[in-house]
Amino acid sequence: MAVTGTGAPPDWQAVPLPWQTALWQRAGAWLQSGRLPHALLLTGVAGSGKQLFASAFAALALCRQPADGQACGQCPSCRQFAAGVHPDYHFVTIPEDKTAILVDQIRALGATLALTSLHGGRKIAVLSPADAMNSNAANSLLKTLEEPAPGTLLLLVSAQAAHLAATVRSRCQKLAMTTPSVPDALAWLNGVESRSDWPALLGIAGGGPLLALQLAPLRLVRERLDLYRMLAELRSNTRNPLQSAAELAREPLPLVLRLLQTWVMDLVCMATSGQAAPAALINADARSQLQSALPGLHLRALHAYLGRLNRAVMLAATPVNGQLLLEDLLLQWADGLQCLNAAPLAAAGG
Ligand SMILES: [Zn+2]
Repeated sequence: MAVTGTGAPPDWQAVPLPWQTALWQRAGAWLQSGRLPHALLLTGVAGSGKQLFASAFAALALCRQPADGQACGQCPSCRQFAAGVHPDYHFVTIPEDKTAILVDQIRALGATLALTSLHGGRKIAVLSPADAMNSNAANSLLKTLEEPAPGTLLLLVSAQAAHLAATVRSRCQKLAMTTPSVPDALAWLNGVESRSDWPALLGIAGGGPLLALQLAPLRLVRERLDLYRMLAELRSNTRNPLQSAAELAREPLPLVLRLLQTWVMDLVCMATSGQAAPAALINADARSQLQSALPGLHLRALHAYLGRLNRAVMLAATPVNGQLLLEDLLLQWADGLQCLNAAPLAAAGG
């Protein structure tokens, strides 16, 4: 199914997306020539469609009668794949109630992959996000990577490959997905659904069009100007930081932190360039709030605060008390980042 402007997210049959064509052809050539590595590490920014690409490539590698470098969509294998019941396809991700991919999941996968394929063809596993494997899980995967059963293909998907164990990384063939240029990404997004706020959403997403698509319907994103108003009121002491932190703690923590990051990144941009052109700002529609927030904030303190936000983002991937984290950040913000003014620049990015 192609993307048809219905506002629906694309499915695996829409792959390759426009910016994935070269990578798709490269992987497809390996498949055709029989030189397919047994493990691929698919990297790229969040929302560039890596997981979709991995699914589509798995469907192609399992398809019995591929045509023009695509899965046929008709054969028994394709029909099972589309129905989510292909016996030789396995998808491993973080369990809903956990924050990591666990060793038991990898052991079970290893045992399954060691068995003979039910269709007499390949056995394929997609691990996403692969960097979420804890160290025991990564160690367990090494055995499968070192002695793969014939016909095994492991597709590791990661937006943060640096967080993946080096021993795992070094045993995979790397496939780096290009981030589409902003005009290309906006053209694609407008083809899915015409919206005027795609530039802001794409900026908040960090350049990944599929992530921008996921963010668009979220309440906190639609009403982010309210969040920025909250930040302005905290600075003018007309709002209580602890109460605000309690309110924000009810929202998804990574999203709250990302919005705070883009707010501070815009302030840094304005503080650096004086009158930043609207196009340079992620939250160009919040320009007046940004302008009124800027007086009294030092560039050094803003950099240090951005460093703290980056650390908070990493903490948010662990079991952490989100409300305490937000209280700390909002108290610093309400205080005009006074405690960060003395911080040496060297510590700003840490
Ligand atoms: Zn097929």
